[in-house]
Amino acid sequence: MIIAFAVILVLAAFFYTLFVRQQDVPEPIPVSPIQHLEDRKHAIYDNLRDLQFEYRLGKLTDDDYQQTKQALQKELAVVLSETEQTLKTLGMTSVRKQAIKPNRDKPSRDREGAATLCPHCGAKFKEALKFCGECGKAIA
Ligand SMILES: [Zn+2]
Repeated sequence: MIIAFAVILVLAAFFYTLFVRQQDVPEPIPVSPIQHLEDRKHAIYDNLRDLQFEYRLGKLTDDDYQQTKQALQKELAVVLSETEQTLKTLGMTSVRKQAIKPNRDKPSRDREGAATLCPHCGAKFKEALKFCGECGKAIA
């Protein structure tokens, strides 16, 4: 009976922990879109450093050193161009957003201008009105 109780207690604690953990786990921090590329870049730099170190110690032949170095540099070039591409794409989206904004603002400003100006008597109003306060005619 005591053992059964202990087992239940342990299980309860176990599930409670799981339950709490799932609830308490914070939202994953939004990772920079180039974070994985940065990581790869640093890894390649590390590898290059290690490679040079081992070459200086005489652990590698010239051929091995050159081949590995070229392979790493090629990989590095790919990572760097991917980084540039990603940043370019991100830059373009923000530029596009900025380019759209003035276009959206312009028509609304024109509409506002038309609504605050009576087409019949030319009276101007601070707010958009359906009917002119001067001549009483409908403002389109
Ligand atoms: Zn009017």
